[in-house]
Amino acid sequence: MSRIDTPQTMDLGSWIARRAAIGPHRQALTFDGATLTFGEFADRVDRLAAALVAGGVTPGDRVAYLGPNHPMFLTALFASARAGATFVPLNFRLTGSELAYILNDCGAHTLIADAALTGTVDAVAGELSVSRKVVVTAADGWEPAEEIIAGSAPIAEPAHPAADELAVIMYTSGTTGRPKGAMLTHGNLFWNNVNALLCLDVEAGDITYCAAPLFHIGGLNVTTLLTLQKGGHVVLSAAFDPVQALADIETHRITTMFGVPAMYLFMSQVPQYETADLSSLRYLVCGGAPVPEPLMRRYAERGLAFAQGYGLTETAPLALVMGLDESAAKIGAAGNKVLPLSDVRLVDATNTVVPKGSPGEICVRGPQVMVGYWQNPGATAAVIDDEGWFHTGDVGREDDDGYIYVVDRVKDMVISGGENVYPAEVESVLYSHPAVAEIAIIGLPDAKWGEAVTAVIATAAGQTVTLEELREFAADQLARYKLPLRLEFVDALPRNPSGKVLKYQLREQYTTAVPSA
Ligand code: AMP
Repeated sequence: MSRIDTPQTMDLGSWIARRAAIGPHRQALTFDGATLTFGEFADRVDRLAAALVAGGVTPGDRVAYLGPNHPMFLTALFASARAGATFVPLNFRLTGSELAYILNDCGAHTLIADAALTGTVDAVAGELSVSRKVVVTAADGWEPAEEIIAGSAPIAEPAHPAADELAVIMYTSGTTGRPKGAMLTHGNLFWNNVNALLCLDVEAGDITYCAAPLFHIGGLNVTTLLTLQKGGHVVLSAAFDPVQALADIETHRITTMFGVPAMYLFMSQVPQYETADLSSLRYLVCGGAPVPEPLMRRYAERGLAFAQGYGLTETAPLALVMGLDESAAKIGAAGNKVLPLSDVRLVDATNTVVPKGSPGEICVRGPQVMVGYWQNPGATAAVIDDEGWFHTGDVGREDDDGYIYVVDRVKDMVISGGENVYPAEVESVLYSHPAVAEIAIIGLPDAKWGEAVTAVIATAAGQTVTLEELREFAADQLARYKLPLRLEFVDALPRNPSGKVLKYQLREQYTTAVPSA
């Protein structure tokens, strides 16, 4: 272990080093049957940090990570901070051209990738300016991470990034098509977690299960980093599988986990749900969408309740939280307006607070709100106003007790199986299909995925097209989860007088009763 300096602020790197100093023998991370203690984990972090610096990473540089959940993801996250660099997690479902856009936008110095994904990167190598390529296991032309960790001494002089320095840049598309990098500082992540720890029941003895993707703020920060921060134990799964999740809960005596409603739904639908030993679980944490009542009842049968949260990448993520009792009492709500360290208000189009009960855009102000979008002051100014309120693009309604219900989205975004899909991006690809005269992408309620990406098309004269053909057409350019699951035909898209497509009208037209969970 390297020496421990007193942190100026609780940056991510100091945080893991000090946790290891407090309890080096406590179990920190289990993956694929192998467990690392805090001491072992922090040692690997410091060796990788030294290797990053030796490879030319200087403070402020970006280190990107591409891959499914793996301990190397978390090692690289903390190592980046120890090296003074900013960590950029990438969605491993993206296509090569989507990845190239993000890697070039953030100007990544080093890319660490899972071996299964090096081919995707190598296919667009000509478009990339990455200086160093590291692979988690082995791949031709890539440096193996284990070798560089084994060949490095722990970093002698770790960086101590200040609270306003960037810890992570997470790409999200917000209201428009191209992904934008939400800049989260060390202070954002620290204060989000203090906020969460003050209202969520996380214990040092917790064993949390993480099968939600770590590249998303929910999987990363809700329960995973929180648990490590408390000195608890994280059991990581490369991907989510409902049968595996139930087996892992039993084997590892999991006490809590984070998931989106679709994950809990799939777990409750496999036969193993009836027989799995869930007695170790204290409660479940859910975010991304409200837990539907039937799902809540299904888990109540097994003695389990949900803590829920509403948030965004840009708010690191928590903005609204509900504990176990409130979740059961306020079905469909996103959470209580009041968090210990941040504020929420609902405003109209003139940024005036709406009367209680009226719909308004949910705005968040607090130390967890991002500092802005990477190299995009215009996009930042569009969402953070002069008084520091972040405008979420979600429309909420507050009830008499201060609970907020999300009733609409100002942004067109579709959320399918916990993944965000931005209609403008999908539309721009599908518009070039010869059979498409007009297209609108909307999200329609779906019992399995929450929302189903739906293409509403007016075909060109004399042309026809099938859902399969559209999916095949876009498969090279768009990640699979963005491809339409449903296709509807219209003669012409409904538009307002200025020509804007009336998507709410289409959503109403095609929304049929949602089959219950
Ligand atoms: P992301 O930036 O990927 O975390 O997506 C954030 C978006 O997810 C928000 O703007 C909401 O539209 C949606 N969201 C997150 N949590 C909830 C929730 N509890 N209820 C309803 N919508 C949610």
